[in-house]
Amino acid sequence: MFDLNKLLRNNIKQLVPYSSARDEFKGEARIFLDANENSFGSPLPKDYNRYPDPMQWQLKYKLADIKGVPPQHIFIGNGSDEVIDVLYRALCNPGVDNVVLCPPTYGMYEVSARINDVVIRQVSLTEDFQLDMPALQQAVDENTKLIFVCSPNNPTGNSINRSDIELLLNNFDGIVVVDEAYINFARQKTFIQELTEYPNLVVMQTLSKAWGLAALRVGMAFAGEEIINVMNKIKPPYNISQAAQELALQALENVAQVNEWIKETVVQRDVLAASLINLPIVLQVYPSDANFILAKTTDAKGIYQYLVEQGIVVRDRSRVELCAGCLRITVGTPEENETLINTLAQIEVGSTSQKS
Ligand code: PMP
Repeated sequence: MFDLNKLLRNNIKQLVPYSSARDEFKGEARIFLDANENSFGSPLPKDYNRYPDPMQWQLKYKLADIKGVPPQHIFIGNGSDEVIDVLYRALCNPGVDNVVLCPPTYGMYEVSARINDVVIRQVSLTEDFQLDMPALQQAVDENTKLIFVCSPNNPTGNSINRSDIELLLNNFDGIVVVDEAYINFARQKTFIQELTEYPNLVVMQTLSKAWGLAALRVGMAFAGEEIINVMNKIKPPYNISQAAQELALQALENVAQVNEWIKETVVQRDVLAASLINLPIVLQVYPSDANFILAKTTDAKGIYQYLVEQGIVVRDRSRVELCAGCLRITVGTPEENETLINTLAQIEVGSTSQKS
């Protein structure tokens, strides 16, 4: 049985959170002399001399509308990376508790665990980049607080079988974090509609990918209210700046434009995959549900270097587990993809390895 109280660190259970001026007084007033702000104004045209809403309610109401999830079930982080960090700090006693990670996957789960001195148990994905369910069962013990599942997965691009994620949610008493950073590009449907079904589910999404707002640093967690309340207790009081909140709100009016980009990205992904597989230097193109493609090549390092010399940057993932020879390529505009393919077509097999 899932019991959040059993999972939380004692210091977090006992924590009295910081109470900011904007927590203590929320209404309208004539004169604000409660937060040691600059009473004369700011060098910017708007009210940037005032602290922002620590709970980002306007933004949450808008997201609630778009996502079909009540605002109390939403946490907003300074990028998904803050969400990851807050979860570790809430649940994992340093040096004692562990997290289960399934490499190859997004690198920050591991780095953030190391920063927080969380014990890491690695259960590699299978050859076809799916969860190794028997090995996962073996890896989990009474100190396992979290399992991260990235779906669609970075850097492999595939979605993780839904039934496996459901099996984890049903059988693991800790928290299963499903990172859906790339969900907008996937054929699979999101897990955010399942929050009432699974009290141990946290779904992460971000405005950095399909929404085109990587610079704003807005990441989201969707979960039961109990989990969200704990996360709010831990986060820095003003973790999302006024500028980020306003710009995100403004951007969220553009659902139609974003949907257009998603459609175009998916079309381009298929065009790019088909062109890549025709190149002699490409040995395999893995099926992608994301806005990037993982391709196994004859010589990842040499091809990467050659592309950089031509002013094109992709990601060399060849040193990552199960990804020998692989480059990860973000889907570009039609022109960018064409330039990439034409540039790659110039390479003769064997020529890059002689160069590097
Ligand atoms: N999750 C995954 C799977 C990612 O690939 C990335 C970024 N590459 C993130 C999360 C981080 O997103 P954010 O910009 O919201 O921190």
